[in-house]
Amino acid sequence: MTADAIPTLLVLHTGGTIGMREGPRGFAPAKGALLDTILATRQLHDPSRYVESHGTRPIFTTLPFATGQRVRYEVMEYEPLLDSANLDLSHWVRFAEDVGANHDAYDGFVILHGTDTMAFTASALSFMLEGLAKPVILTGSQIPLERLRNDGLDNFLGALGLAALYPIPEVTLYFHHKLLRGNRASKHDASHLDAFDSPNLPPLVRVGIEVEVDEALALPRDERPFRVRTELSPHVASLRVYPGITAEVLANFLRPPLEGLVLETYGGGNFPERSDLLDVLREAVARGVLVLNVTQCPRGEVRADYQVGRALADVGVIVGRDLTAEAAMAKLAVILGQRTAAGWSHAEQVARVRAPIRGEMSGP
Ligand code: ASP
Repeated sequence: MTADAIPTLLVLHTGGTIGMREGPRGFAPAKGALLDTILATRQLHDPSRYVESHGTRPIFTTLPFATGQRVRYEVMEYEPLLDSANLDLSHWVRFAEDVGANHDAYDGFVILHGTDTMAFTASALSFMLEGLAKPVILTGSQIPLERLRNDGLDNFLGALGLAALYPIPEVTLYFHHKLLRGNRASKHDASHLDAFDSPNLPPLVRVGIEVEVDEALALPRDERPFRVRTELSPHVASLRVYPGITAEVLANFLRPPLEGLVLETYGGGNFPERSDLLDVLREAVARGVLVLNVTQCPRGEVRADYQVGRALADVGVIVGRDLTAEAAMAKLAVILGQRTAAGWSHAEQVARVRAPIRGEMSGP
């Protein structure tokens, strides 16, 4: 914390609806739009506190929160700003490196991000930022901040307040009054403002009249030295199983260069008990492909209670328990990215996929 005891955060403005404007072809990120709106919004910028700047980055101070504390934050606006549908793994690396390079200089981080792939980024960062000792909160909105009626103000102010005043040292996602573990979150509503859910874990914090922190959900402190892991495999895909899927389609999916497949199965982890499909999976696993079984259901877990689900485990498909599809993809990308340098055997890779890393799945 700074000498005058105002917690200071770094805000990475990466893009997303929160800073968009409507143009001739629809909503798109607009350079400077978010900063202009912050300057005009008293809660986000107390005009009696002059705007300082750190190089090209403005530093704002909020009005006092209910605790009487203000929050100071510096905004790093990305160039170009991005619709999160355009993100790829190189952007995850940039976000992680920006947090890494500033980790010691700030009390916490807020990442403004589009909602479309926010749950993927939150999952990936949770695995990439090892030994994280500061809060990293992703947020955004479904309506731009500069619109009169918007959800961006609540989400942004809430994220600033939680990062500074209720710091939880992990990667989380704040939306519509709930702080969710980042690698448990999923976007579940494209039309309404309560856009995210963490179907298999209650919110870490609920912000109502009071701020209710669920202490029981806290993760043990990540004791590893702080380190940013940037090795990621781009050769990961996800396939939603459907009635009548053919062995040709499955085999095409599993062709090199694919290294990891998230297999989204029915219900509690069930898959057609057909030898042509199971043979394709067996052969891919024998080549070293990691195949991870998660459920298509928005809630619940893969349990392999049925004969049709056990057949998958028998051919070497890994039980993903209650992982979201987003967290499953990110976890495979991270583990496959690290395997060569680490020299992990196939069995070691499988063991790492099965074990929780940062609270992304429930224990056995
Ligand atoms: N397409 C936008 C994005 O993900 C949607 C949003 O931010 O709500 O960047």
